[in-house]
Amino acid sequence: MGMGANIVLGAIADDFTGATDLANNLVRGGMRCLQVIGVPQQEVDLTGIDAVVVALKSRSCPVDEAVADSLAALEWLRQQGARQLFFKYCSTFDSTDQGNIGPVADALLEALGAHQTVMVPAFPINGRTVYQGHLFVGDRLLNDSGMQHHPLNPMQDADLMRVLARQTPHPVGLVNRTVLAQGADATRAQLSALAEQGVRHVICDSLDEQDLDVLAEATVAMPLVTGGSGLGQALPAQYRAQGWLDTISEPGRLSPASGGALVLSGSCSRATLAQVADFLAKYPDGGFALDPLALAEGGKQQEQALAFARKRLSQEAPVLLYASADTEKVNAAQKALGVAHAGALVEEALSQLAVNLVDEGVGRLLVAGGETSGAVVSALGITTLRIGEQIDPGVPWTQTPMAGREAPLSLALKSGNFGGVDFFTWAFEVLV
Ligand code: ADP
Repeated sequence: MGMGANIVLGAIADDFTGATDLANNLVRGGMRCLQVIGVPQQEVDLTGIDAVVVALKSRSCPVDEAVADSLAALEWLRQQGARQLFFKYCSTFDSTDQGNIGPVADALLEALGAHQTVMVPAFPINGRTVYQGHLFVGDRLLNDSGMQHHPLNPMQDADLMRVLARQTPHPVGLVNRTVLAQGADATRAQLSALAEQGVRHVICDSLDEQDLDVLAEATVAMPLVTGGSGLGQALPAQYRAQGWLDTISEPGRLSPASGGALVLSGSCSRATLAQVADFLAKYPDGGFALDPLALAEGGKQQEQALAFARKRLSQEAPVLLYASADTEKVNAAQKALGVAHAGALVEEALSQLAVNLVDEGVGRLLVAGGETSGAVVSALGITTLRIGEQIDPGVPWTQTPMAGREAPLSLALKSGNFGGVDFFTWAFEVLV
């Protein structure tokens, strides 16, 4: 058991930003939540924590690796006494035909000695709904939503029962909207009937929050549930109804933030480019552009960026260091250097800048870009994130203890298309 643990929910997320998205919803539902990066190798202080989300990188890796990592996370979460387990994947059910959702769910069920779980990917407020087992993104079926062209996990089939049937040898069943509309008792009865037929995996319809509430109520006693972060927001109310969870007045409350404020951006997504432009319009002298072609020539541009940031920070002025660039520039750099090398140069430069500047007193750090965030967090040696209040949908402030200094580091990690246009300034306004 971890120190002082009373862990109600233990979650295993198949990627980093997905973990944060779930953690954010758990806080909104009223749980004090800690995200851990990978399976902890050391004792983690879980005092005053109700939910832990373990962030893995198991979405697109080989099946064996995804299963092994998920089982290790399960083992650790059980040691912390988690009452219910949650396997979190993307609301678009991102997976290959071989997995990893089916094999991981099967392995977790087996390890728990459980016979059935539900699959609830829907996230209605983000337009992800499921009807008759078919996944919709807005008004399009999944395979017609753009996801059919995803570079890593192209989703060419919206029929989730069929998708899952390719990933597991066990029977797949459905709880449809008609059953949900009759409430939690009818849903539980349907799940039992399916269990009697040996159905291990039950795809669940959900069109709105109310359906998710019914599902959360019907499945609160299951050892394992699986799905997207929408279900995560519905579960805490059920834990309170069970008496497992107290009413917590400010589940996202963090220690007061302190130290210099820095924005690092390695995301070239459309939303991020608009956020960079908005910041530069407000602070024309506040940004320094990094360019992989210049970075490839040695450390000079990185030194300049460091000097620029130090000067701005000493004046307590907002500062943005960014490699974000439009498609044309990105293509040019990728053509000259190769895609992986261009990306690695940027990630390495931003990570090193983060390490230097945090060491020199930056205490509030915003990072834009999923991969970029992963690189920065790993360079800073961060292993746990306490989840705070939401800045914009899906992106919370977080805090992490820093060795050798008293105040924690406040950190916001924004993947590509998240956040409003003023995110790079708004985030610091809402941070207390
Ligand atoms: P997002 O969340 O928007 O997808 P990521 O950080 O995950 O952002 O991915 C962006 C990738 O693009 C990173 O690997 C980053 O290093 C790389 N990158 C950033 N700027 C440039 C640039 N100017 N040229 C080429 N690659 C870049």
